[in-house]
Amino acid sequence: MGFAMGYFRDNIERAAGYVPGFQPGRSDVVKLNTNENPYPPSPQVIEAIKAIEPERLRRYPDPLGRAFREAAAAVNGVGPDNIICCNGGDELLRMAFTAFCDSGRAAAYPVPTYTLYPVLANIVGCEAIEVPFPLGAQKAGEGEFNLPAKLASTGAALTIVCNPNAPTGSFVKVEEIALLADEVNGVVLVDEAYVDFAEETGVRLISSFDNIIILRSMSKGYSLAGMRFGYGLANKTLIQGLRKVQDSYPVDAAALVAATAAIEDQEYFRANVEKVKTERARLTEALRQLGFNVAESSSNFVLAQCKHSKANEVYEKLVERDVYVRYFNMQGLEDKLRITVGLAQQNDRLLEAIREILPQSK
Ligand SMILES: *Cc1c(COP(=O)(O)O)cnc(C)c1O
Repeated sequence: MGFAMGYFRDNIERAAGYVPGFQPGRSDVVKLNTNENPYPPSPQVIEAIKAIEPERLRRYPDPLGRAFREAAAAVNGVGPDNIICCNGGDELLRMAFTAFCDSGRAAAYPVPTYTLYPVLANIVGCEAIEVPFPLGAQKAGEGEFNLPAKLASTGAALTIVCNPNAPTGSFVKVEEIALLADEVNGVVLVDEAYVDFAEETGVRLISSFDNIIILRSMSKGYSLAGMRFGYGLANKTLIQGLRKVQDSYPVDAAALVAATAAIEDQEYFRANVEKVKTERARLTEALRQLGFNVAESSSNFVLAQCKHSKANEVYEKLVERDVYVRYFNMQGLEDKLRITVGLAQQNDRLLEAIREILPQSK
C-alpha cells in the first residue's frame, strides 16, 4: 500500500472486481458453493488428456477449435459455423460486452442474476440497466409481470437473460425469449450455463433470429470447471463478428481435447445429469421439511429461503461445520442460501448440519 495510484482508468480504479465463490484449500469439506458438478468428468476425457502428444503442446492450438465445433454441432443440431469456442463461458460474456456495448450502448438484464454482468459493464464503461425480476414470478410473461416487454423497453444494445437463472434456478420459457428477441432492437444473449439441468434450450431460435446468442459452459453439466471451456451458438454473421473481439488463440490445446471428448460422451453426460436432478428433488424436499422455502429449480443448485433464522447466521454456522454454501448479501437474497446439489452423502452432511443449527426442526 501507499503507492501513488492513478494509473488505471477511473472506473477500473473504483471497481471492486468480480468476487468468486470461496475455494477452500482442503478437500475434506462439503463444498456446495460454486455449482461445480459433483461427479468427475467422463473417463474418456482423462484418456484423451493422457494421450496428448508433446507436439500438440509445442504448437499453437487450432484457433477455431474445429474438432470441438463439429462435435458440438452434431449434439446441438446446428452447423459448425454456428459455434464459437471460448475460454469458459465467461469469455463469451466479456466478448459480448466488448462487441456490443460502450458509453452510448447499454446492457440490460433481470436481477438478481450472475454478478459478473455488472463487472463487465463497468469495464467497457456501459450503462447496466437492471430490471428487477420478482423472485416469486417463476414464469415470465405470466400474471402481471411481463419480462419480454420490460426488457425490450430499455432500448439496450445487449440484453442478457440467464436461463436457468442464477442464483434463483428459475426458468423463462423459450417462447418468452423469442418474444423478447422479436421486440428488442439489439442482441439477446441467453446465458445457458445451467441449461443441461433444465427441460428445454433456446438453441432452435438461432435459425430464425439474427440477434440471439446462446452461451454454453462445459463447467457445470460436463464437470470441466477446471478446464475453462465454453462456447457460443448463433447465426454465422454474429459468430464471425464475435471472432473479431477474441484473443488470438482463445482456447488451449488441452482444453480443446478435453471438451471434445466430454461432449462426445453424451451417454455419460446424460447419466450424470439425471443423478443430479434426482438429488435436486430429494434435497429440495428435505429442505422444505426443515422449514425452508425452496422454489423449484431448473439448475444444479437450489435457492433456500430461511424462514425462522437469519441466512447469514446459518451460513456462518455451516462454515464452522466445514459445509460451504453461498450467501449473497444483496437485495432480495439476504434471507436465502444458494446450495449446489452435491453427492447424496454431501447433501446428507449438509442436512445433518442444518438440523444441528436449527434445533426447533429436530
Ligand atoms: C458458470 C457460469 C457461466 C460460465 O462459466 P465458465 O466456467 O466460464 O464456463 C456463465 N454464466 C453463469 C450464470 C454461470 O453460472
